[in-house]
Amino acid sequence: MKTLLSLREVTKLYGDITALNGINLEVLKGDLLAIIGPNGAGKTTLLKIMAGIETPTKGEIVYKGKKITIDNLHAIRQNCTMVFQKTVVFNTTVFNNVAYGLKIRGFPENEIKSMVNEALELVKLKGYEKRQARKLSGGEQQRVALARALVLRPEILLLDEPTANLDPKTTSIVEEAINYANREMGTTIVVATHNMFQVRKIAKKAVLLLNGQIAETGTVEEIFLKPSLAMTDFAGLENVFVGNAKPSGKGTAIIDIGDGLKIEAAIEKNGKVTVYIRPEDIIVSKIPLKSSARNVLKGRIIEVSDYGQVVKLKVDVGRVITSQVTRLSFEKMGLNVGTEVFLIFKASSVRVV
Ligand code: ATP
Repeated sequence: MKTLLSLREVTKLYGDITALNGINLEVLKGDLLAIIGPNGAGKTTLLKIMAGIETPTKGEIVYKGKKITIDNLHAIRQNCTMVFQKTVVFNTTVFNNVAYGLKIRGFPENEIKSMVNEALELVKLKGYEKRQARKLSGGEQQRVALARALVLRPEILLLDEPTANLDPKTTSIVEEAINYANREMGTTIVVATHNMFQVRKIAKKAVLLLNGQIAETGTVEEIFLKPSLAMTDFAGLENVFVGNAKPSGKGTAIIDIGDGLKIEAAIEKNGKVTVYIRPEDIIVSKIPLKSSARNVLKGRIIEVSDYGQVVKLKVDVGRVITSQVTRLSFEKMGLNVGTEVFLIFKASSVRVV
């Protein structure tokens, strides 16, 4: 895939604050890249530099093979559109808000109409054309801002926390629009987000920023299948246990993770290990199913969290293990806080961090 944007040794200082420190990053055509990191890590600064809104203190930006300087900043400003976390819509109708960028670019009226229609359809705001944008709810205004950016068909769309403070339904409308733009319109997207669930759901690649530096980078599969300690720590990943492994002599190891709990892993390690079990790799059952899975743990549900189509369950099996089931299974099985369940997972689902 073609490289669109490269950041080379980019450092950004604000007085004596180092917002970014020696960032090397390539954005390829078609990427859907998530920038994750705690508050103050430098995510917004990174997006602003990619959008040409801020310039680096040190280092260079190369867009389509051309080094960006003060004199040709317009090259990225025209092609890389940023949608800010705190949206400001113009004090006019939804239609005029979305049409604005097209008007100043001199598009003919009939084209503007169909492009605005398409963008509003994408964010599920058809029928809102004549409404006053400032009178809409926060979530609707956020969608107007997204439509305003999408309608310009930027080469790179930079989204800063696009679903922060949105309800689950609006979040999924925004996520679907992001996905559609990437998949069907070929828009390259860089999205800063705190939402790990979202990263796994929509992003192809992710970068973990810590203190203005890249702590980890890779495909989303790589990062979540074999997370580094930095990642498990930041993401508050569930089911990370430190234990003592003893080889079973059968190609697996029994890991004592404390509180009387032992789990079997498909590893041949001896001594201290950090392991991780993905909630989606755990089967929840009301009966101790007979299967090839080496781990069958009995416990009680102590917490239920609703994530829309998925429900996360914290189960106390001696240690607290998080599992997840679809909403449909949750309802069909009649699960709730206090229900006794078995957590079943394979030795190969226990991954070493
Ligand atoms: P959040 O998740 O809270 O939005 P972030 O990862 O987007 O954080 P940035 O907004 O990029 O982080 O900020 C990185 C650091 O740079 C912070 O310490 C911030 O206070 C500082 N900073 C950002 N913009 C400015 C500015 N214009 N002037 C001074 N300091 C700034």
